[in-house]
Amino acid sequence: MWIDTHCHWDAPEFATDRDAVLARARSAGVDVVVVPTVQARDWASTQALCRAAGQPYALGIHPLFTPKATDDNLAALDAALTDAQGDPLLVAVGEIGLDFFVPGLDAARQQHFYAAQLQLAKRHDLPVILHVRRSADQLLGGLRRVGLRTGGIAHAFNGSAQQAQAFVDLGFALGFGGALTFERALNLRRLATTLPAEHLVLETDAPDIPPQWLYQTAAARAAGQGSGRNEPAELPRIAQTLAALRGWSLAETAAITGANARRVLPKLAAMPPCD
Ligand code: ZN
Repeated sequence: MWIDTHCHWDAPEFATDRDAVLARARSAGVDVVVVPTVQARDWASTQALCRAAGQPYALGIHPLFTPKATDDNLAALDAALTDAQGDPLLVAVGEIGLDFFVPGLDAARQQHFYAAQLQLAKRHDLPVILHVRRSADQLLGGLRRVGLRTGGIAHAFNGSAQQAQAFVDLGFALGFGGALTFERALNLRRLATTLPAEHLVLETDAPDIPPQWLYQTAAARAAGQGSGRNEPAELPRIAQTLAALRGWSLAETAAITGANARRVLPKLAAMPPCD
């Protein structure tokens, strides 16, 4: 059994075939799909989708959605986390973080929403799912300032070995996905090979970060040659890259990364096994 620790299954890209996407994931052995949210507007609908499907979810404001976010949204997040306190499917606060790659985002505004959501995670005793893009040191600074002890996942991690170790020291696992399938991803592959096994989790970030076999250039997409849409059913094939790098069998890879996911998102461990 596989766990996709990061999939935007609630995204509009899946609007027309959402159930089929999940059915394909299940037939590929991906029984658990963690669905992080990106903005307040989506919380209730994603929560309903996930509860109906028995899939775990996280509530949060993504850094790319901070331009439109308000302090009322933070109060609403606090209330939603209180409401969902007894919900075994609410596994984290996320997706939250900082993005210093996408141009035009207000850094101070991002920091405001990041710090406030870390405080909420601390208050509600939940791990966090972090968006890390050219922001690892600033994210680590925020975690230390708030004194978050619940850890979580640094998703789509692509930083240095030192930054990886700093996240690990704070109780985080690092999420690896489609980017690993590109042979030129030397830094990422080195990290996935050398990081102690207990800190690796797998994710697709679907519909984004397509693996190498789904990747389409913008020109090819415009010419109608496939959408390049990623989906959770791709996880076992993505895992083959990790298995090859580590010298693990696929069964070992599933067992190790699954156990790691249950450790950093403890409510996953309480979910009934579905096989
Ligand atoms: Zn994401």
